[in-house]
Amino acid sequence: MDKYIMALDQGTTSSRTIIYDKKGNVISVAQKEFTQIFPHEGWVEHDAMEIWATQMGTAQEALLEAGLTYENIAAIGITNQRETTIVWDRKTGEPVYNAIVWQCRRTADYAVRLKPHEDMIRAKTGLLADPYFSGTKLAWILDNVEGARERAENGELLFGTIECWLIWKMTGGKSHVSDYSNACRTMLFDINTLQWDEELCELLNIPMCMLPTPVECSAHYGDTIIELFGGPIAITGSAGDQQAALFGETCFNEGDVKSTYGTGNFLLLNTGEKPVPSKNGLLTTIAWGLNGKVHDALEGSVFVCGAAVQWLRDEMEFIKKASESEEIAKSVPDTAGVYVVPAFAGLGAPYWDPEARGSIFGITRGTRKEHIVRATLESLAYQNEDLFDAMESDIGHQIRTLKVDGGAALNDMLMQFQADISDVNVVRYASIESTSLGAAYLAGLAVGYYDSLEDIIANREIAREFIPQMDETTRTEKLNGWTRAVRATIKLHD
Ligand code: ADP
Repeated sequence: MDKYIMALDQGTTSSRTIIYDKKGNVISVAQKEFTQIFPHEGWVEHDAMEIWATQMGTAQEALLEAGLTYENIAAIGITNQRETTIVWDRKTGEPVYNAIVWQCRRTADYAVRLKPHEDMIRAKTGLLADPYFSGTKLAWILDNVEGARERAENGELLFGTIECWLIWKMTGGKSHVSDYSNACRTMLFDINTLQWDEELCELLNIPMCMLPTPVECSAHYGDTIIELFGGPIAITGSAGDQQAALFGETCFNEGDVKSTYGTGNFLLLNTGEKPVPSKNGLLTTIAWGLNGKVHDALEGSVFVCGAAVQWLRDEMEFIKKASESEEIAKSVPDTAGVYVVPAFAGLGAPYWDPEARGSIFGITRGTRKEHIVRATLESLAYQNEDLFDAMESDIGHQIRTLKVDGGAALNDMLMQFQADISDVNVVRYASIESTSLGAAYLAGLAVGYYDSLEDIIANREIAREFIPQMDETTRTEKLNGWTRAVRATIKLHD
């Protein structure tokens, strides 16, 4: 009987299921969007039951569409939006509150209170004291939902990030686990000892009995209950979205780097079997735990990447669809000195300036929309170059190759400009769906569907490689112009 892997990709705006064959070809896909809940300015929630229902709905649909049954599925792998926080009743499975989403800023004051402890937080977790991570969101639920703290202390409530919630639900409440790549985003997990940390839990007043068991990213977590697919399927892979993309891009070795050009941009560098602290505003995070070994990563994130292209399309109305940006940008030889800094939601790493707002510099009487489109695309590469630069100073040597994925990685002009401005070889594989592929690979390794990492590497097919062509003087001039534009953007609100 033909066997396949099912990848559950639980994202911020939609739940997707993709069924892969051994070569990494997509057999079927199903996708469902779900409700974004904004109760107050800056607050973002999801309905945990809707996440569950849409995820299972797409899994059943993908099976049906491919004409497969549970018996054809060798294993399930999960990848998910990270940091999003759920608390539920251990007996009934009822969430006590909506899922608080990673984007939600309601715990900004908790983060301020944690600032004096930031050195300790950084040393243990690799993270910053920021409301982005799960710990303060969990504390908020316990502090604000009536009776929650008492019930948690009595052992009646469980905490989990999305992968943990899905595994718990799929196994009928048998497995309460969280893989290292997700656990390390909670700010409660010590990435050196691979354990929940008592001091951090005390600081946030979190009863440790509600925390899941930390597990590797490729292991047997349990089987799905019969009711879901007519028979059991083993759940054997789990990783947060960015780490899954790193795995899917086969960045298995120390020094391998990938960039995902989605709505935002995430640059991750595999630092091998050791956490590398950052002096330059990057996060230190666990890449994955596999076969008794843990790989770590340095991570830099930029809030606005493909979203800037959406802005060109929806607000500026300069283009009709995202892919058109390339043709329009190429219709002019350069930006004629225009720089766009798309700090629409503040500046992320390495600047961390939440108050900054977007700006355009160097406009003359001759500036055309084509220049602005080109400058916007170039800005995505400049932002990535800033992360690159930070990473190179943290590790002390130059990065030679960058693997790319995500929607905007399909833009050849952008990829060539990235190669030029970062002086790096940019490699784009045939599949840019590396997030779900990474989850599928992790699940497949645990059940012998793949014998080894070499088996997975054999699936790789380079679609295109971009080699740097820009001379050093032009590169330096352009980078100086960008740096001036960013400085001015930051100064504008100082
Ligand atoms: P996400 O997973 O974050 O939703 P995707 O990886 O699906 O993002 O990528 C979609 C993003 O990529 C959109 O923001 C879109 O504007 C951008 N995008 C898609 N195609 C192109 C292109 N050819 N050139 C530039 N940007 C693009």
